[in-house]
This record gives sequence, C-alpha cells and structure tokens, in this order.
Amino acid sequence: MTTSAPVIAPFLINGEWTRPAGLDTTPVFNPSMGDIIAHTPAATAAEVEAAVSAAHDAFPAWMETPPIDRARVLFRYRELLLSHFDEIASLISREHGKTRGEARGDLQRGIEVVEFATGIPALMFGDTLENVARGIDCETLRQPLGVCVGITPFNFPAMVPMWMFPIAIACGNTFVLKPSEKVPLTAVRIIELLVEAGLPKGVLNLVHGGRTCVDALLTHPKVRAISFVGSTAVARHIYETGTKHGKRVQAAGGAKNFLLVMPDADVGRTVEGITGAAFGCAGERCMAGSTALVVGGAAKSVLPTLVDATRAMRVGRTDLDTGKQPEMGPVISAQHRDRVLALLAQGEQQGGKMLADGRGARVADSPNGFFVGASIVEQSDPTTNVLMREEVFGPVLSVMHMRDLDTAIEIANRSSYGNGAAIFTRSGQAAREFKHRIKAGMVGINIGVPAAMAPFPFSGWGDSFFGDLHVQGREGMQFYTQQKVITSRWFAEGEGDVWRK
Ligand code: NAD
Repeated sequence: MTTSAPVIAPFLINGEWTRPAGLDTTPVFNPSMGDIIAHTPAATAAEVEAAVSAAHDAFPAWMETPPIDRARVLFRYRELLLSHFDEIASLISREHGKTRGEARGDLQRGIEVVEFATGIPALMFGDTLENVARGIDCETLRQPLGVCVGITPFNFPAMVPMWMFPIAIACGNTFVLKPSEKVPLTAVRIIELLVEAGLPKGVLNLVHGGRTCVDALLTHPKVRAISFVGSTAVARHIYETGTKHGKRVQAAGGAKNFLLVMPDADVGRTVEGITGAAFGCAGERCMAGSTALVVGGAAKSVLPTLVDATRAMRVGRTDLDTGKQPEMGPVISAQHRDRVLALLAQGEQQGGKMLADGRGARVADSPNGFFVGASIVEQSDPTTNVLMREEVFGPVLSVMHMRDLDTAIEIANRSSYGNGAAIFTRSGQAAREFKHRIKAGMVGINIGVPAAMAPFPFSGWGDSFFGDLHVQGREGMQFYTQQKVITSRWFAEGEGDVWRK
C-alpha cells in the first residue's frame, strides 16, 4: 500500500489530463482502513461542455477510420491491460475494498469485452438481398451515432465502464465517461492505458461529478446516447430524462435475486454457490443472491452446512499486496456499512431470525475499516420484512422455507426486479420448469451468479432495466449504431430499367 498524500482525480478532455477548475470534491476512501486516499472533483458546466465538444469534434474523423484500424487500438489496449493486470487489480482492491481475487475478476470481465469489441469488423456487417423487386437490390449498413455517454456505479470500477466504451468506440462513436465518484482512480488508470494504446484525442473523454454533472450530460444537445448502470431510482430518472431529451438510453438498475434450493441439490457445491453469490464482493453485486428459497428437505440437507460456512467466513483487509487475502473485504463506505447494519436491526425487529450474525465482525489491524460480517436471516413472510423487500447491497442473505417448487417460483416472481435467479438441483425437469417460468433476465442452473459474459447481453428485466437494448454482446453493438437501409436500381445506357444482354 502506498502512503502518498491524497490525489485529486483528473479529467481527460480532448487528449489532455486536466486539473479541475472547481473546489467541490468528494473524498475517496480506502475502505479497508477508512482513510482518505483521493478526492473526486465535480466537473463544472464549462468542463462538461468542453468534454462533450471534444467528443463531438473528434467524431467525424473517428467514424471514417476503418473498423479494423479502430479494432487495432483495442488489440494494443488489451495487451496493455494484461501487462498492468496486477497493478490495476491492486488499485481496485485499494479504492473499492474487493479481495484481490474479486478485483482480478472485475478486470478480467472488462478485458473480455475489449476482446469482444476487437471483432467489430465482422460484428458490424449488414445484410443484402438481390432482386427485392426486379433489378432492385436492398442492403443494410450500420453507422455510429456520435457522442455517447457512460455513467457508472461504484461496485465494479473496471468492468462496468468497460461494458460500454470499448464497444461504443469500436463502432466509431466518441465517448464521455462519468464514473462513480467513489472509485475514480481505476477509471483514470484504465483510460490512461487506452490513451497509451493510441486512441486519437477527443475520442474518449473523462469527467467526474454527481447529479449536476450527470444532468448536464443527459440534456446536452450534442449527446446522442446514454448508457447508465446504478440503482433503480437513478436508472429511472436517467431513462426518463434522457429519452425526454431525445437520447437513446439503456439504464440498468438494482436487483433482488432469488436462489432456489431443491432437496436433491448437491450440498457442497450448493453451499459454495450460495455463499459466493450472497457474500462475494461483500454482497455489493447487482447479481448478488440475496434470498434463498429452501424447498422441502433442503432445509435439513443444505441449510445447516450453509449456516456453518457463513459463520466461518473471515473478513479482513484487502489493501495489502502481500500475505493471505480474506474471504470477504469491507463495504464501500462507513455510511453504507451503517445502512446495512440498520437494515439488519430493522429486519430482526420485524421478525427475522438471525441464523448467522455478522454485525460484530472486527478486524484487529483495522479498527476504522468499513467491515460487516456475513449474515443469514430466516424469514417467515415474503413481503413484510424490509430485508425481503429492499436491495441491501451488503453481505446479508434472507432464507425462507418453501413447500414446493411452484410456491418458490411464485414468491420469486412477485419481485418487481428481474436481474438474475438461480436454481440448485440434480433434476433436469425442475431446472427446465424453473428456467421457463422464472421472471428474470439471467438464469443460473447450479450457478449462483449467472452474470452474462461479454458475447451475451447483460439482460435485466423489470425494475432492473429501462430501455430496449442491453449492455454487452450484439445488443451492445446494436445500441451504439443506427441502421441504414439502401434500395438501389441501376440503368444501362439506352436501356430500360433492367439490364438486358
Ligand atoms: P448510484 O445509483 O448511487 O450511482 C450510479 C451513478 O449515478 C454514479 O455515477 C453516480 O454519480 C450517479 N448518480 C447518483 N445519484 C444520482 C442522481 N440523483 N442523479 C444523477 N446521477 C446520479 O449507484 P451505486 O451506489 O454507485 O451502485 C450500486 C447500484 O448499482 C446497486 O443498486 C446495484 O444493483 C446497481 N448495479 C446494477 C447493475 C446492473 O447491471 N443491473 C450492475 C452494477 C450495479
């Protein structure tokens, strides 16, 4: 860990790393220790204007750059990300609190989107049909939109921004990224490497800030499309404001994901899958499994082992480059830790029974770190307890006993969210029934976190997504391009409308 003085995260505008003009900043913490390591500045209106204008001015030349040349920048970028892999993972752990393994996973998933985007010359192919009418041909082609904006959450500092800008720029767009003010340092580092890879100035610009900065981007006349990932309330605001101002918008929101455990589930693998889903990344995952619905005999076969494994989980510092990493790191801030603790207290007051209680977790060498241990709360009612209703975004798993698969599916389907859901079973029939009837966009079968990988859309439903085309995969490419349909007819000299030999 470095002991250098806190830095101010810079902006990247038109190829220049600039120091912010305003004095308004937000502290960035090392959640393992609770100390301030950086400050995130809030961009002024003039700085947002400069970033959008730079992207706007860079667009014509970048759009005309052949797709293979755009892809070559991304090939070089991938190599740079790989050669700085450990350094970036260490930075993610330091400003976010993920364990080193989780930080590596965050970056790895982002790199996979870069790899996907290098295939852009083939991805952007259009269609052709000869003789749609006699002597008339029809073809489609895809063109970039112009200036696109990305607004990202704190919980995946590398992966979520990389869901967006690699595909957007590969398609020929220019981009303005506004990362979370809680984790700006990873964004700065991954963009520095993109510049080093040879991206022309202005093609990608980086600004920081909160609501004022976001609203300026959302309503800017030169912005054509907005990609957002964050909480549902903000996602809804982004979607409504952006579309009202004529932008194309994809806005991914929060979640409440159900894990169904059948009596025939493999105990060891299921416990591993559920603890990973519920407590991995300290529960700060939009695909976190936050409610386990335990069907019939699974209460006897799986639950005791799950409770034991949860009680045994070790919480600790993740900011040290040497020594053993803990199973779970801290949450993002003191405020967030206090919110999780308050929700647990409220949940208990409303009748939840603590089967594993992580509230007393302490880390000896870090009295000021933002730690909460893993907890399991047994519930008897699906609607009245706050832990069953709200996205906790912390290491808390609710457990409810279910009579049968039908009831479990019905309870899960009452949720207004629809990001992910998983079933643990050895029965093909139960798995088939589940995947057909469950109302969620990403479904796992014996997989606790069925997060879609780069070639597939990250496909939330319900209040977990607002828009039509999701991030990643082919849908990502479709989001960042518009189609043109060309119908053509050619005449030979002195001939009619069909060339006659
Ligand atoms: P957040 O909504 O607080 O912030 C997300 C982004 O929006 C940040 O860049 C922030 O600066 C900005 N923002 C915050 N309030 C705003 C406002 N009022 N107006 C305009 N912009 C605003 O989310 P977070 O706490 O950073 O991230 C956690 C949330 O993100 C969770 O709800 C999680 O489920 C969700 N998430 C969803 C997905 C998904 O794919 N569905 C993926 C990752 C995270």
